[in-house]
Amino acid sequence: MNDENGDTYLPFGLPSPVPEQDGLSSPFWEGLRQSRLLIQRCNHCNTWQHPAEWICHACHAFELSWEEVEPHGVIYSWARVWHPAHPVIVGATPYLVALVELPQACNVRLVGNLLGPATQPVIIGSTVQGVFECHADAQTPYGLLQWSAAK
Ligand SMILES: [Zn+2]
Repeated sequence: MNDENGDTYLPFGLPSPVPEQDGLSSPFWEGLRQSRLLIQRCNHCNTWQHPAEWICHACHAFELSWEEVEPHGVIYSWARVWHPAHPVIVGATPYLVALVELPQACNVRLVGNLLGPATQPVIIGSTVQGVFECHADAQTPYGLLQWSAAK
């Protein structure tokens, strides 16, 4: 389901995502704003991790960086959402939410909407392609990463 402009998956009016005040996830959100997927990686042991943390969860090093990853993924799990959890999506359900693994980044997982008909069959293990959804006109511009069945 798209809004009347056809450029967002869910209707306008949902709260905008914002990085935590401590800035930990700011590079991730800034990347999405630029239609780039940035995932945190340890400089010491090369472990990928998402969501961001202050230290590497594998070796406890503090030296972490952000690397761009192609938005190609594999569906690990999914849900068809029927209950509108916010007033602006009353009437916009059902919609699909997918938990997607990124093989390029050691299978870290991200949550996003799965584009297309809400009644489409969803197959765990199938490949998906990231689709950046730009909200440049928002009070604080932001981007989202949605997913679409790979062709
Ligand atoms: Zn590490």
